[in-house]
Amino acid sequence: MYITKAVREQIEKINNYVEQWNDTKEFKQFIEDQKIYVGLMNKKECLCIKCKHKFNTKLKINEYDICPKCNQKLLLKRTTNYYNKDYVMYLIPYKNNEYIVRNYEILSILSNETMIYEITEYGRQIVTGYSIEGFIINNMRRNTSGYFYISYQEKTRYWKPEYYIMICGKCFADNGTLKHKYYNPKTILDNAEVNVREIIDGVTRNDYRLELLTKAKLYNLASDYQHFQTKGKFEDIFGVDKSYLEFMQQNNITYKELITLQLVKIKDHNLIQYLSELYDLKELLEYCKPYDLYNYKLKDTWLYLDYIKFCKKLRYDLKDKSILYPKNLGFKHDELQNLIKINEDKQTTKKIKERYNKIKQNTYENKKFVIYPTKSIEEMINESAQQNNCVQTYADRVAKGKCDIYFMRLVNEREKSLVTVEVRKNKIVQQRTKNNMDTTPEQKRFLKKWERDILCKIN
Ligand SMILES: [Zn+2]
Repeated sequence: MYITKAVREQIEKINNYVEQWNDTKEFKQFIEDQKIYVGLMNKKECLCIKCKHKFNTKLKINEYDICPKCNQKLLLKRTTNYYNKDYVMYLIPYKNNEYIVRNYEILSILSNETMIYEITEYGRQIVTGYSIEGFIINNMRRNTSGYFYISYQEKTRYWKPEYYIMICGKCFADNGTLKHKYYNPKTILDNAEVNVREIIDGVTRNDYRLELLTKAKLYNLASDYQHFQTKGKFEDIFGVDKSYLEFMQQNNITYKELITLQLVKIKDHNLIQYLSELYDLKELLEYCKPYDLYNYKLKDTWLYLDYIKFCKKLRYDLKDKSILYPKNLGFKHDELQNLIKINEDKQTTKKIKERYNKIKQNTYENKKFVIYPTKSIEEMINESAQQNNCVQTYADRVAKGKCDIYFMRLVNEREKSLVTVEVRKNKIVQQRTKNNMDTTPEQKRFLKKWERDILCKIN
């Protein structure tokens, strides 16, 4: 890959700056805190990999316990071979309104009852306020950045330009890095899953909303500050009255949860969290009470709303809880779907028969051909199969009186399809032989005569 002079200079500029930067004590501690220590389980006994102390625990594999001797947080594992990759970011100030994001990979490896760590700084990027294209997501959301970036090449030990790079993980900023006169923007990075670039932009532009939400300790809402208007009373801004503020702060609610809170107005975070994950909560609440939904543990809203639609069609009593909350939703859904299909077929069959009785006097024949209206869905399915056309899909239209379907056949071969005819308002609109081909002149003459002598005389 050829690297232009300008790009080479930019790489040098970034690297010179970073190399002169002294990682702070706080950042080093932050990295320490991200390292994983394993507690090796043997039945109920746990071996602390850090201090080799053994103790009994009631916790299970993949849960975290604390070593009573050295106070280290331990991830409980049974295996002696384990490794984990984590990603973090370090935001350092560069120039006016410019920052450098440094990306790290933290590899934690358990081998021979010892932990080994490999920490690699694999990416560097300059980010600027006033430009919010691209994403740098704080907190475990993975993303790629389509921006000029440089990445470390282990083999050659060079930094090379890159336009897409994996950027994710918790973002650490030293106190005072993201500066604002009236509040500490770092608290958002510490308490919310955010797009770092958007926060940098908001801080740089002195966005009042960001300030307001951060000062109110609503960090997750601060990460979605663009959604809020700046003026008005508390209720105008948040859609709930001020008595909800304490609840919102205590649970650091997200924007999705706020929307849910606006709908149900119940101060129960478990409930709000659960409901905020449901698709189309607004429609669900037309039928269901919030706690009933919570206890029902509904997962598939699409399936459920479909089921409700079927219940309404069948005029079931949705006030009856055994109907509103069926034990096996999937099974019940399919059962009702079949029932409706049969019912609809019954209705269609009845109406097609009625229509047949009304127009059967239009049946007409000469020495060679005969033409008569359809009297059932089965006949139309049969015609479709013989003619290789889609006339069976007309059943619904025939039942609703939107059109009539006639079969024209040879007098001495009445079982065999010949021409399928569609009539609307006593006029032939389609006449098709097998594979939707056109009729012969002789067939045309017969149909023309039928139309003129029979159909056009009906009022
Ligand atoms: Zn220990």
